[in-house]
Amino acid sequence: MAETILTVEDLKKYFPIESGIFKRTVGHVKAVDGVSFEIKKGEAFGLVGESGCGKSTTGRMIMRLIEPTSGRIVFCGKDLTAMDKKALRKTRKDIQMIFQDPFASLDPRYTVERIIEEPMIVHRLGSKAERKKRVRELLEVVGLSSYHAKRYPHQFSGGQRQRIGIARALAVNPKLIIADEPVSALDVSIQAQVINLLQDLQKQFDLTFLFIAHDLSVVHHFSDRVGVMYLGRMVEVAESSELYRNPKHPYTNALLSSVPIPDPDYQYDSEELAGDVPNPIDPPKGCAFHTRCPVAMDICRKTRPELKEVAPGHLTACHLYNN
Ligand code: SF4
Repeated sequence: MAETILTVEDLKKYFPIESGIFKRTVGHVKAVDGVSFEIKKGEAFGLVGESGCGKSTTGRMIMRLIEPTSGRIVFCGKDLTAMDKKALRKTRKDIQMIFQDPFASLDPRYTVERIIEEPMIVHRLGSKAERKKRVRELLEVVGLSSYHAKRYPHQFSGGQRQRIGIARALAVNPKLIIADEPVSALDVSIQAQVINLLQDLQKQFDLTFLFIAHDLSVVHHFSDRVGVMYLGRMVEVAESSELYRNPKHPYTNALLSSVPIPDPDYQYDSEELAGDVPNPIDPPKGCAFHTRCPVAMDICRKTRPELKEVAPGHLTACHLYNN
């Protein structure tokens, strides 16, 4: 069995809400409220949920771009949350990120060569000549050409820019890539090309991915296992095919019935997702989904269901599966 590369344990991020000239804390936005999961080496783990469910905040905490309020992030056996700045800087080489917006994430003042070379410079990898050679190789790997090296980001299309962002992420041979909504800013016609590229790269280099997206059909294509988040908590985790064929949580079922998956074997109760996501400053008591759940029971309004295994490798947080 593959080794575990990342373990996230009871991770929380509460953003304070401040008021008045003394900036008194009057409440908290519980963006992530006790999320746990693990990722094996070579695995693609998809994290999905509606906008504001905490999936991107989770990704950014793993990168330590955002400080967790509490919880542990263990990467390759080391606790990232307990690391000092120097150790963290070293470990950052092994975790790279592909960002959502390829227009904002590439510095317009730099050539493509400089952008892709940057992480190698930061981590002092290779001589100048070796770095230039690697940039040219990476451009070919992501489906661009070595002659693109001297051009600037504005000379490329959105899809090409995302390929540049992917080449930059690959430059330092990371052990884990966090792809945060990597195709949602792209035209639909380009999305499949970028997903196919990521899939090819994953096989070719045995990469490990945390793939964050709101679009379940995208995650389904890409991921070995999927975690579904709702209002800062994980509500279901399962192998991708199992989750899509046999969703247990009513929220997952509702998400799935809202995306067309071209496979006649996939049948969902067509429960439309009613209403809006509740305010994370004051989430509903009990099961946070009870205000939108078509099968909510009395207990759901009072007691929060824990995430537990209901079939081998299939976890869900729902009172429907308590005995
Ligand atoms: Fe619906 Fe209750 Fe399950 Fe929550 S715990 S998803 S409200 S049935």
